[in-house]
Amino acid sequence: MLSFLRAGARSKRGLWPIQRNRRRRSLRAFAQFALGVFAVRKVALVLVFVCLTMCGCAASGAEEDTLTAVFYDVGKADAILLYTEDAAVLVDAGVNKSGEDIVADLHARGIERLDALIITHFDKDHVGGADKVIEGVEIARVLEPDYEKDSKQFRQYREALYEAGLQAEAFAENVEFALDGCNFAIDVANASDYGEDEENDFSLVVRVTHGAVRFLLAGDAENARLAELLDEGDLQSDVLKTPHHGRYAALSAAFFQAVSPEYAVITSDAEDLEDAETVYALELAGARVLLTREGTVEMTSNGDAVRIVEQ
Ligand SMILES: [Zn+2]
Repeated sequence: MLSFLRAGARSKRGLWPIQRNRRRRSLRAFAQFALGVFAVRKVALVLVFVCLTMCGCAASGAEEDTLTAVFYDVGKADAILLYTEDAAVLVDAGVNKSGEDIVADLHARGIERLDALIITHFDKDHVGGADKVIEGVEIARVLEPDYEKDSKQFRQYREALYEAGLQAEAFAENVEFALDGCNFAIDVANASDYGEDEENDFSLVVRVTHGAVRFLLAGDAENARLAELLDEGDLQSDVLKTPHHGRYAALSAAFFQAVSPEYAVITSDAEDLEDAETVYALELAGARVLLTREGTVEMTSNGDAVRIVEQ
């Protein structure tokens, strides 16, 4: 028994160096294999990074140096998304039921964060879907005109802001900010009283400049506000979001001539059509008229020109 143990011990001692050598060799082999895998993974990671950089692919899926503008088909209502590779801004959020669709589209485009949500005014066809948008994506800042409204949609919007820990910035004076090569200039109403049905004239008017390309988003501006904008001047733009869903006002023709857009988008509805005079006056000013009631209008700017994205 004892001799067996000794023999075993001896034999173990005798075998040990061989086993250690084997273990060393297998450790070395494993280390080489692991380093190899690590190196392959490292190269793969570098290749993915290079591909992403070369393709200009970012989280938003937008092309490098391109501004995409999406005028959603949300009925007689406004919801306009502007986004680049690294920035995204939503101007208005359509009616109540549009909110979830807008959020779904943002996700589909890879947009999980808005740098700004701009509410031009608090009518239900502009602020209606804002609560769902606020719940659905991260938002850096919210900009709104300097007044309040007593309505269900406005309360839902305020509640969603509160829940998200956001405080909207109400502007009484014009404001500008730059995002990823785009300049956003927000023009506020000059007067504090526009008489009956005045809210439309409180609309924030948004000018977006991308290189040499200019967008003018005119909210629901009516005649008094159009007069202010004509007085202020500097209206020429490549793309006009036609004011007030294509309602024709006394100053519409003069305003369209001053803007002289290549493209004019009208956010009307099949059951509440734009005025024929508006379309005529826009075409007379040289614009190609695009109607969201015929489907979402999408266009891209490369900083020199605008191209319509066929849906
Ligand atoms: Zn409206």
